[in-house]
Amino acid sequence: MPLQPSSYRQITVAGFPVGLTGLDEIFQLLRQAGRALEDSTGAELLRLVGEQNYIPPAAEGDYRAAILQEYETYCELESAGKPAKKRESWQGFPREQVPWFPTVDETSCDGCDKCLEFCSHGVFAKREDGTVFVAGPYDCVVGCDACARLCRHKAITFPPRMTLMLMAHGK
Ligand code: SF4
Ligand code: SF4
Repeated sequence: MPLQPSSYRQITVAGFPVGLTGLDEIFQLLRQAGRALEDSTGAELLRLVGEQNYIPPAAEGDYRAAILQEYETYCELESAGKPAKKRESWQGFPREQVPWFPTVDETSCDGCDKCLEFCSHGVFAKREDGTVFVAGPYDCVVGCDACARLCRHKAITFPPRMTLMLMAHGK
């Protein structure tokens, strides 16, 4: 039966925010089929996502890596019993269309866990290898940057605040 996507997510592809439809339905399908995190799954994800969205041919590698990373996070949250939830909109925009979320520079992060312990919104999580990553970018409170200020290595960054001002004023 063909997929009937209704979900929308914004993910980061090669450092740029990209909005995609149908990711939740595709992830659910592959997870139910027991698809592991491997190259063939990345190719299958790219094919299915490409049926619902335009993927520039020259950027297929970046999209495949980003979507596979998103699928990994999805599987981790599902395994932990924390499935993706519906979020409140911001200024009339679906939360997933608002590009406000932390990015962790893994080359600067020492895994001290301060951000993880501080943020009560479940934005950060830890991989088995001890590295901290952003598991719930759209659970971040729009406009908050408190965790960036407490990171002693300045490993956490946010988009320019001007982005929010322009969105709020319809520019
Ligand atoms: S507070 Fe900074 S250094 Fe510590 S885990 Fe978070 S990102 Fe890494
Ligand atoms: S900015 Fe605030 S809400 Fe967002 S991840 Fe950091 S502490 Fe959590």
